Amino acid sequence: MNNLQLEFKASFPKIIFNEPLKKHCTFGIGGAADFFYPATKNKEIKDLIRFANKYKVPFITIGKGSNILFHDHGFRGLVINIKIEKITFHKDSVEAEAGASIAKLIFESIKHGFNGLEKWVGLPGTVGGAVFGNAGCNGLEVKDCLIKSTLLEAFTGKEKKVDNKYFRYKYRHSILKEEPETILSATFRLQKNKLNPEEQRKIMEEIQKFRLDQQPKGSSSGSFFKNPSKDQPAGYLIDQVHLKGQQIGQAKISEKHGNFFLNLGGATAQDILSLAQLAKEKVKERFGLVLEEEVRIIPEQGL
Ligand SMILES: Cc1cc2nc3c(=O)[nH]c(=O)nc-3n(C[C@H](O)[C@H](O)[C@H](O)COP(=O)(O)OP(=O)(O)OC[C@H]3O[C@@H](n4cnc5c(N)ncnc54)[C@H](O)[C@@H]3O)c2cc1C
Repeated sequence: MNNLQLEFKASFPKIIFNEPLKKHCTFGIGGAADFFYPATKNKEIKDLIRFANKYKVPFITIGKGSNILFHDHGFRGLVINIKIEKITFHKDSVEAEAGASIAKLIFESIKHGFNGLEKWVGLPGTVGGAVFGNAGCNGLEVKDCLIKSTLLEAFTGKEKKVDNKYFRYKYRHSILKEEPETILSATFRLQKNKLNPEEQRKIMEEIQKFRLDQQPKGSSSGSFFKNPSKDQPAGYLIDQVHLKGQQIGQAKISEKHGNFFLNLGGATAQDILSLAQLAKEKVKERFGLVLEEEVRIIPEQGL
């Protein structure tokens, strides 16, 4: 072990060295992280951030890795994987820790007689990932229902409470994409018994069916690019330039949905990025539009 590894081990016995990141993202792609920590207590996250800053170790926080493309050489720093999942209901809201999955959040809300989040059925990932990227679908984005959140400052690890406005939400964008901070928890607005369980079930079944019809199975990060506009979604544009089914190495643009990039098994990040570059060039050439990544691309040396 080198000195930094010894220091890490002494302060955080659960630390993992050289952890393959392909195990921690839905793409199934990525080399090893120098340091990897599955955090099960908020205090661990605070201490890790202070430690990382003290030793100048770049760090990132992840949830389920469903919106991330890691580098083929991994990450020269610390990956904190938030595993804290507590969910607490209030009169007309729910507070969820960052590691709670959206699926669990919906399930628990319904169990407690609440409505409001069922449109997110089938949205993979955690509360932290959703709040970070203003995730959403079927007309409901985080920006529409987030009340407040608890964050940790990037350099001090100090806790702070912020409201919805703090995030400066836009389509698949928050201020945290420019100035990363760690999300510990978030509170969402809910309604009590507005829909009966049968109505809720119907809405969710329809959405699930739509997803199954429209989206391919397999290893992906969902939509790779943001939609330049509602009339011209990225999948349509990629279809129009005849790239559906296009393959580079073991990466392929789905035949079913032009904005889904698939790892057929053993694809490299470079395969995916080469396909993405091809799609960007063709779409720019034909439509004059610049496709912008929705998926978070994590460079080897950190952001
Ligand atoms: C099949 C499929 C379908 C999808 N459909 C949709 C959809 O309909 N709508 C949609 O919006 N997205 C969709 N996605 C993308 C993805 O599920 C969402 O973006 C999700 O919110 C990401 O959550 P995560 O926990 O996986 O985040 P991760 O992928 O782990 O992280 C994503 C980003 O958030 C940051 N982050 C994660 N947790 C924290 C935290 N606690 N604090 C600070 N930063 C953090 C990471 O550093 C990273 O930059 C889909 C993905 C797949 C694979």
